[in-house]
Amino acid sequence: MIYAIVDLALNRLAFASGWTILWPLNGVSIAILLMRPRSDWPAILIGIGAGAGIGECMDGNSIRMELLLRPISLSEVTISALLLPHFSTLGDWLRKPHIFKRFLGALVLGPSISGVLAAIVFHVSAHQGYLSAFDDWAPSDALGIAVTMPLALSLRTPEMRDLFRPVQLLKTVSVLALAFLVAGLVFGVSRYPLLFLLYPALFLVESLLAFSGSAVAVLGVALIAVYLTDGGRGPFGVWPKDLPVSRDVAIQIYLGFQLLALFPASILLLERRRMAAELRDTNEQLMMLASLDGLTGIPNRRSLDERFAQEWGRAVRLQTPLGLVMIDIDHFKQFNDLYGHHAGDECLRAVASVLYGEVRRTHDHVARFGGEEFALLLPHTDVDGAFHMAEILRQAIVSLAIDHRGCANGVVTVSIGCAAMTPKLGDNRLSLLQVADAALYDAKRSGRNRVHIGETARQIVR
Ligand code: GH3
Ligand code: MG
Ligand code: MG
Repeated sequence: MIYAIVDLALNRLAFASGWTILWPLNGVSIAILLMRPRSDWPAILIGIGAGAGIGECMDGNSIRMELLLRPISLSEVTISALLLPHFSTLGDWLRKPHIFKRFLGALVLGPSISGVLAAIVFHVSAHQGYLSAFDDWAPSDALGIAVTMPLALSLRTPEMRDLFRPVQLLKTVSVLALAFLVAGLVFGVSRYPLLFLLYPALFLVESLLAFSGSAVAVLGVALIAVYLTDGGRGPFGVWPKDLPVSRDVAIQIYLGFQLLALFPASILLLERRRMAAELRDTNEQLMMLASLDGLTGIPNRRSLDERFAQEWGRAVRLQTPLGLVMIDIDHFKQFNDLYGHHAGDECLRAVASVLYGEVRRTHDHVARFGGEEFALLLPHTDVDGAFHMAEILRQAIVSLAIDHRGCANGVVTVSIGCAAMTPKLGDNRLSLLQVADAALYDAKRSGRNRVHIGETARQIVR
């Protein structure tokens, strides 16, 4: 039904004779087929055939003629759709192998085969010359497919919706307006040859608005071209009648090559955008991997060093305290000796994940410092806060209850040294590390499984 109305509307539209230059409906039909499974195709084709047939009959074509022409038109749609891959998403479809060759095949084969059949029908029924009948049919269908199929495919994609979001709208509208302005100049001015302007404008749309944007531009440009030419304007509008190539064929060849040249450019640009995004992701992943410890998966020494430098600078600027907690597993050498290195690795993972899980504030940073030592950086935290946090961690490790015959209470424990200071400009951040480390050594000497506070030279913030 929709097809009948659209067909009728198109034929009655102002530039009815322009449709021999470009026939838009078949491209839409092919797009519909590509979006549906092949089992649905027969029903869709019958619907399209019946709709378009009724439309043409209401426009004055004979029923007998339509009974011949509709199957021919449907064969064109089917052949072209068979040559193209199924459509799910725009990115996927454009990246299908040999997509350009298949697109070219769909443009050439479908319209050519149906064009030959139609030429026979027109020759037999209306005594029209084979060549002129073929000329009326095939090139306009091919051009129509090139113009409307990409647009019909992009119509309901997220890429198309993005183009018309408020943030993007101004850019979309101005780029399209520029393309239409150029099309108006190219096809409306007969005094100066401006044909060379069209491709750069289309390429600009392609690079700024991508495939879906250029699909809109292409349809607009093609309609402007047909409208102005049909109205006798522009270089094709004043085409001399006595040339061996007719006006319609000339503009079809011109537009056809412009649009065809745009398609591979579109695929290349898409590929370039995809590769750039992939490279960005890979780089981010590499950066992340480089800052993670391979065994435990928590941040490594490198990332702690970086964070320490940043937070130190911030603490100097804001004059806020910076806490540092050093954690060392007790008698870990013995643990390895008793249970083996594999169990040792498992123990390190378990301890790391408990430490990582206990640290909740976003600016706190826990890292494997090396071997069986871990460190925790606590911005905006004085020594009481650091001690409080250290005690929570010590108890959490005891609660893990990993068997360790070599330790006093039979489970894996940690000794912890903590320190905090509000650094002044010119202070060396290693001093905070040394104080925390000395406190850790104290904790070891006084019996392990305990937290000691280190005294910084510049008196600690309490
Ligand atoms: P203390 O209580 O004084 O800290 O004694 P300790 O045995 O824990 O300390 P020491 O420094 O003597 O030994 C640390 C051990 O940690 C030695 C090393 O084999 C072990 N270790 C370091 N890194 C790893 C690791 O990645 N995997 C395993 N399984 N063991 C490790
Ligand atoms: Mg150690
Ligand atoms: Mg140790």
